[in-house]
Amino acid sequence: MSTKPDSPVAKKIVASPNHDPRESRIDMLLLHYTGMQTADEALARLSDREARVSCHYFVDEDGRVTQMVAEAQRAWHGGAGSWKGAADINSRSIGIEIVNPGHEFGYRDFPDAQIDAVIALCRDIIKRRHIARERVLAHSDVAPTRKKDPGEKFPWGKLAAAGIGLWVDPAPIAEGRTLSANDRGAPVEDLQKQLIKFGYGLEVSRLYDDATRSVVTAFQRHFRPERVDGLADPSTMDTLRHLLRAMRAHH
Ligand SMILES: [Zn+2]
Repeated sequence: MSTKPDSPVAKKIVASPNHDPRESRIDMLLLHYTGMQTADEALARLSDREARVSCHYFVDEDGRVTQMVAEAQRAWHGGAGSWKGAADINSRSIGIEIVNPGHEFGYRDFPDAQIDAVIALCRDIIKRRHIARERVLAHSDVAPTRKKDPGEKFPWGKLAAAGIGLWVDPAPIAEGRTLSANDRGAPVEDLQKQLIKFGYGLEVSRLYDDATRSVVTAFQRHFRPERVDGLADPSTMDTLRHLLRAMRAHH
């Protein structure tokens, strides 16, 4: 990598050897948390050849931004996943690791200084790379059965207020028809079709199976974070409908 970061928001380079050539055009921005006890430990792992993981940018809790892999290269942050039917998420995305111990080690609020830096970085990347609003995603969106990051504490609404990511205010939680494990039939099929249309990797099985529950959970972490339980309640389904409408309105 050159000695100058690709983004002016990054002030430092810590080069990771874990990258290779892209096989697609960049059209997606993927946000992660580090999910390790300390930032130093995460930085060490992301630059360890043996670990075979990396990211393009690393954002400390105090807002310092470090670049680890050149944007032109494929960094190894996404693993197996899919969005809108496409796999090889790493080839099409820029990956940002945001320091937070995560669900395993004491998940905590993301400090304002860190979020301000994430916002500045995302704005710069989106502008330079022309990334569509609905393609700024959580790792959990593209790998819902494996991943929880950056999780329900991540302030997507605040990012949206700064023009980053597709967002609608979540529909209020209310009683009503709720789909849950082992439900089957047309209502489940409708839900699955809407989730697939939005982008999630899912099969239309007409059965509220584990895969469906995982996708609904991922959807809630990102778009209806007040309650993350994997149940398709009216608020979850309304929020999804509103997002699909907002997505159409952007095209
Ligand atoms: Zn991740």
